Amino acid sequence: MNKDTICALATANGVGALGIIRVSGPDAIAVTNRCFKGKNLETAVSHTVHYGFITDGDETIDEVMVSVFLAPKTFTTEDSTEISFHGSPHIAGKILEVLTRNGARMAKGGEFTMRAFMNGRIDLSQAEAIADIIASENEASRKIAMNQLKGGITDEISVLRGDLLNFTSLVELELDFAEEDVEFADRTALNMLLNRIEEKLRSLVESFRYGNAVKNGVEVAIIGKPNAGKSTLLNTLLKEERAIVSDIAGTTRDTIEEVLHIRGTAFRFIDTAGIRDTTDTIEAIGVQKAHEKIAAAKILLYLYDEFDSTPQEVAAFIKEVYREDLKVVLLHNKSDLSSEKGQNFDNDLRSALEAENNVTLLSISAREKVGIEELKNELIDYVEGLKQSENNVIITNQRHHEALLRSLDSVRRVKDAVSQSFHTELLAYELRYALEYLGEISGEFTNDEVLGNIFSKFCIGK
Ligand code: GDP
Repeated sequence: MNKDTICALATANGVGALGIIRVSGPDAIAVTNRCFKGKNLETAVSHTVHYGFITDGDETIDEVMVSVFLAPKTFTTEDSTEISFHGSPHIAGKILEVLTRNGARMAKGGEFTMRAFMNGRIDLSQAEAIADIIASENEASRKIAMNQLKGGITDEISVLRGDLLNFTSLVELELDFAEEDVEFADRTALNMLLNRIEEKLRSLVESFRYGNAVKNGVEVAIIGKPNAGKSTLLNTLLKEERAIVSDIAGTTRDTIEEVLHIRGTAFRFIDTAGIRDTTDTIEAIGVQKAHEKIAAAKILLYLYDEFDSTPQEVAAFIKEVYREDLKVVLLHNKSDLSSEKGQNFDNDLRSALEAENNVTLLSISAREKVGIEELKNELIDYVEGLKQSENNVIITNQRHHEALLRSLDSVRRVKDAVSQSFHTELLAYELRYALEYLGEISGEFTNDEVLGNIFSKFCIGK
């Protein structure tokens, strides 16, 4: 149990009709009561609200409502109060100051949620889901985070982990009877369980592609020769939508990314600085740079027109950069000027790229806004295509993804140990690892560094 009583502003730091300050810890009620003029909060019943004033000696700071929550049925499982005051940052500061003078200390980022986790009220993936819910910018990511908060991933994994734990106990028991050469753990049944776990993990790992797209957006590269119409297309796409231009931290200063939201999914146009100055052409930026951009993208929009390209040239470039997990959309631009030559161009291009899956060809006019809806549908179809109907639970978190990959790897090693009849000791060893990795997701196995890292990303007051 934590001895400290912590306090922090729980609402956004700015002007609002109301603000809320949260206090949690063994002295939460006493500390609040010391600063409160009204009913004696120390005799208040749990989950009740009280009218009064926050005072500093003789001075009245604000008229407030205080909610009292007694352990253990609270967010942190500790005694807690919530002070609703008139939402001014100045008043918030004064109230916090009085609280800290009366026995509370300022909470660190994520400390309330960390206490909820430490005190066993939520598991680690649920704590992370809280951060995700706060950060969710669209309906799809809110739903995914809410599902996780309800225990989605952990439920599924902990059932499988429980079964594996039973087998591990049996295998370890065999070690105690090593002399007698007995087999308590039925290897066929163990193998069946391992297959089930492997299948589950594999599908969760797969779900990350969709989850990540929903949560972080999909990287798109726009590439084409000079004057193909890249900047015109970007303008057309972004004009109707909310456009966000941002510098990406950790990359070169002139890297600009523009974001297009289509039906709740963000498409991030990588490195569009050059496109805006129309120097971002294959020639100008160099083939190397174009390749880097494509390597960082999930979707490639390749623009060309029939006046300044040949089908062979386009096909050769696409073949060079093609990979299975890259969606390529060939955009035959300037359809408003197109002629019969254009038809033949595309027929030739199609046959040259017959062997490449994931290549779509659309005829558009970036300037006259023709074919733009079809292009947007292509982008959305890509994201929908990542969704797997079998999965209710979708992974969006990088840490879970990595833990799942490690689990998957170790489950496969256990399978090898079973199928190749490894020594029981080795099998037990691999099993223990698999259990540990599976436990990392819910936080049954973690270390302080991992925890510190997760909770430090929370805002103060959460
Ligand atoms: P970028 O160098 O690839 O960025 O190409 P721009 O977007 O600057 O376009 C080059 C020229 O092509 C400009 O004069 C545009 O107005 C013109 N252009 C772009 N899209 C179209 C289109 O769909 N139809 C026609 N007729 N011209 C276009």
